[in-house]
Amino acid sequence: MFTRRLKEELKHIKSQNLYRERKILQKKIVNFSSNDYLGLSTDLHTKEKLCEQIDKLSLGSGASQLVSGYHKIQHELEKELADLKDTKKCIVVGSGYLANTGMLEALIKNEDTVLSDELNHASIIDGLRITKAEKIIYRHCDIEDLEKKIKNRKNKGQIFIVTDGVFSMEGDIAPLDKIYQISKKYDAVLIIDDAHATGIIGNGKGSLFHYGLKPDDMIIQMGTLSKAIGSYGGFICASDIVIDYLINKMRTLIFTTALSPVQNFISLSNLKIMKKEKFRRDYVLDKAKYIVDHLQKIGLNIHFKGTPIIPLIVGDESVALEIRDFLLENNIFVQAIRPPTVPKGTSRLRITVSYNQSEENIEKLISLLKIYYSA
Ligand SMILES: *Cc1c(COP(=O)(O)O)cnc(C)c1O
Repeated sequence: MFTRRLKEELKHIKSQNLYRERKILQKKIVNFSSNDYLGLSTDLHTKEKLCEQIDKLSLGSGASQLVSGYHKIQHELEKELADLKDTKKCIVVGSGYLANTGMLEALIKNEDTVLSDELNHASIIDGLRITKAEKIIYRHCDIEDLEKKIKNRKNKGQIFIVTDGVFSMEGDIAPLDKIYQISKKYDAVLIIDDAHATGIIGNGKGSLFHYGLKPDDMIIQMGTLSKAIGSYGGFICASDIVIDYLINKMRTLIFTTALSPVQNFISLSNLKIMKKEKFRRDYVLDKAKYIVDHLQKIGLNIHFKGTPIIPLIVGDESVALEIRDFLLENNIFVQAIRPPTVPKGTSRLRITVSYNQSEENIEKLISLLKIYYSA
């Protein structure tokens, strides 16, 4: 019964062109689908330093942060992240997913209201699912809709506004200048998910800094170490009170083992490189604009949003898969992103630019897409 039920469901998924498999990319294939924007996941300097220091590092943290898993290297990493985000304090947790789900569950009470952009990341959606507060979804980056829905709220408690800084599947930057003003007008807590903004916009500091805004006690910046930083782990930067509260209340910090000191060492080393080597993000943004300019010339509906994420929306799942397979035959990988990751009818090729991609391979991607669309 049970196995048959699963089989039936998988068959249904396949019939809709929504079946997914994990793929190990061969070495010769150029990856245009990684979030390793700055190429730091393979950085030689960090590898060398890790080899030098490996004798001094525990391979595993050994326990939860609150028991004995909090090592010196994590403390240093947190100080470096707090410095990046101009906040008093920071906590590092297992992943960005754990940061969002745990933080939202800990901070938002039943009597509160939370407003969330309709295209926010799944980890925000899952975090909000756990809370019993009033949850309101506003239209993507729509300030008027946001304010209207704040005015129409039912609960009388604290207001929270949650938004991605850079939207992972669209590549656009949230209008934080306006959202910030709304948050001040209604005394709302502003939670920004800078998973894709950190290391890229605002001189690498993130979306708040992109708009020249300053953090304060009512702003929480979260992010991940697994994208532009090229490592693994999640973090939350905020005021000391917020961080002290989360250390005491956040279940995804308390009831799980701390990250390995080896992983935190990699994060810290890569973070320092990210801060110093501005040319990496300059390259990535230049090339993203270059790709868009060339694909617009052949009439594709594609836009540069100021980030390395370039969605080529084709709508139909089977078309997205066809283009993916055509590129792959030519040793270029661009993953087809389909529902439920993106809304129905908006299946797309999500092209991402990385410092690891040579100019030659960028030209190759452009000419292959030209060939596909002229055939
Ligand atoms: C990737 C991502 C996360 C989750 O981060 P992980 O460290 O991969 O768990 C959270 N929010 C957004 C917007 C993301 O793109």
